[in-house]
Amino acid sequence: MATTETATGSDLQELAQRHLWLHFARMGAYGEGHEIPIIARGEGCYVWDDHGKKYLDALSALFCVNIGHGRHDVAQAGADQARELGFFTNWSYAHPPAIQLAARIAALAPGDLNRVFFTSGGSEAVEAALKLARQYHKLRGASNKTKVIAREVAYHGASLGALSATGITAMRTPFEPFTPGGCHVPNTNLYRLAPGYGAENLAESIAQRIEFEGPETVSAVILEPVQNAGGCFTPPEGYFQRVREICDEHDVLLISDEVICSWGRLGHFFGAQRYGYQPDIITTAKGITSAYAPMGAVIASDRVYAPFADGKTSFLHGITFGGHPIAAAVAMANIDVFEQEGILENVRENESALRAMLESLRDIEIVGDVRGAGYFHALELVPDRDTKAHFTREQSETLIRGYLSAEMYSRGLICRADDRGDPVIQFSPPLIAGPEQFEEIEAVLRPVLEEASRRMLHA
Ligand code: PLP
Repeated sequence: MATTETATGSDLQELAQRHLWLHFARMGAYGEGHEIPIIARGEGCYVWDDHGKKYLDALSALFCVNIGHGRHDVAQAGADQARELGFFTNWSYAHPPAIQLAARIAALAPGDLNRVFFTSGGSEAVEAALKLARQYHKLRGASNKTKVIAREVAYHGASLGALSATGITAMRTPFEPFTPGGCHVPNTNLYRLAPGYGAENLAESIAQRIEFEGPETVSAVILEPVQNAGGCFTPPEGYFQRVREICDEHDVLLISDEVICSWGRLGHFFGAQRYGYQPDIITTAKGITSAYAPMGAVIASDRVYAPFADGKTSFLHGITFGGHPIAAAVAMANIDVFEQEGILENVRENESALRAMLESLRDIEIVGDVRGAGYFHALELVPDRDTKAHFTREQSETLIRGYLSAEMYSRGLICRADDRGDPVIQFSPPLIAGPEQFEEIEAVLRPVLEEASRRMLHA
């Protein structure tokens, strides 16, 4: 049995290794000489571990802490709400924070996205959106519209329904079979375009897949404004406008999965606003509260809501904690910070400086591509820039887990070295970051990438 009396230092490490099960982590790799990183405190763009060592959080704690760490005012909003009404559910009841937040989100969201269904996180939001799309079509008499089109290498969540949309083979195979109907098309990796496609016709892959499956069987297309997995794939000019046309032509709902790309990550409240398209549904989470409390949401258009409005019909879905009053109050305080402190403006003003810093690393041989938008960027690492050859799985393993992740962390930089597609390093700093933090990122990144080049290309 564990003892939990004010464990500190090595006690915490030992207890973590013995009892805590980390997500997406090789637990067996921790042990003698390999500590579990324990983050104990945060302030602004920085966090401190349990040894008191400081790190620049250039990942916003997994694309989450958009306004930065340690905001006492936001914490206070949660505490005040806990005293007033600690919890009541949204299953057939409302409470003031959920009502106020829903109205505020509806006012900020693009077009007629006026109806907000709260969840506790991103996977639950995607799960709810996929169910909503199915029930929407069934209520309108299109019972066979059940399939969902998503993109290769895209991550849409870990629950079994969301996994059917997730396009990462390694994450799917241990759990198959799951909800049928997930279909995948090429993503917008403009550095490595899918055979037969150019930037100008990538959206056609969606039309072709809908036609191949039969439009009467397709319920929704789910896409991120900028695709995270694979490394910040931005859409080519006109891509989303064409996707919108395709969805309209085939009576298919367009779900914009903005679990990462909303709440300022791309310099706008919603990613769809950056690229000027109108989704039928937005899924969001993470930055909605800047992760000071767990929350997600499905934001639906008036058209999607209409078949549920006849007084006899329910959306037959619910999550006990969806719209939790503490999370809703925290979200309101978070949005106050956005509005009062010019968070979106800071991203728009400084995103070109972040980009320029990353572009300046192109002289390092292993850097193949620099891409992204807003405060959401990636470097792709390649063995040969001329041929854009791929690292093998083993090389990628050596590069990412054998060197980069540990080295950047030991030098005080938290970012994401990932190989769900080709190896990339991703940056998504808190939206309050600026040139000072970008310089700090570069000061770590340059020597680490130079050493990675030596090890991988010249050893
Ligand atoms: N959708 C996208 C685009 C995501 O990036 C994520 C998580 O990173 C999810 C869904 C799942 O969100 P959560 O981890 O909150 O369940």
